[in-house]
Amino acid sequence: MSTSHEVSYKCPYCGREFTITVYDSVNADNDPELKERCISGDLFRHSCPHCKTDFMIQNPLVYSDPSRKFVLWLSSQEVSGDLYRLAKPLDEQGYTLRRCGTLQEFTEKIQIFEDGVSDIVVELAKYDSFIEFIDNRQGNPAEVTSVEYQRTDNGVMKINVRTDDKGLSFLIPTGPLEEEVKAQSDRYEADNVTFPRINSDWVISLFTEPQGEA
Ligand SMILES: [Zn+2]
Repeated sequence: MSTSHEVSYKCPYCGREFTITVYDSVNADNDPELKERCISGDLFRHSCPHCKTDFMIQNPLVYSDPSRKFVLWLSSQEVSGDLYRLAKPLDEQGYTLRRCGTLQEFTEKIQIFEDGVSDIVVELAKYDSFIEFIDNRQGNPAEVTSVEYQRTDNGVMKINVRTDDKGLSFLIPTGPLEEEVKAQSDRYEADNVTFPRINSDWVISLFTEPQGEA
């Protein structure tokens, strides 16, 4: 079941108040329409009835997909309280648990898990694409505005490296990356029950932290 509540909200543009519906949780199986609004970002888009300005509000949200077995916690805050207590039983049932700090991370994660691929493999593919962009295409790292997952077809991931004025797409075969993750499972393992944030900062930390091995 999905849950929501109404809150009084003060428009950041005209200062007048109005009521908005904020979702606390979305169940993708029960509410496919809400799921689509999460993917498009419409769930977070609001319009002021007074001055007609549209804007985004990123409220904390628990997104669960029981058939694909994943739960996303959209929040700039660490997980605590009730959700933390839910983590262990969900983990035991084989759920993948993730925190998303931004809307962009959130919509991308849904896409990744809808495609049935590992987000750890996706982050490695994004990292490889970024390195390829800099090393072999003479790209300037300072110009990169985002590195985005697009889709996976027949074991090949499409990653877009975007800059202000252009973008380049990279096709990354997933097989070798899946092998790498399997071979170094200790290194790539994410602590599921803490609702880890698996993003570019995470993958960079793997390559910059000392290994601590003799
Ligand atoms: Zn307004």
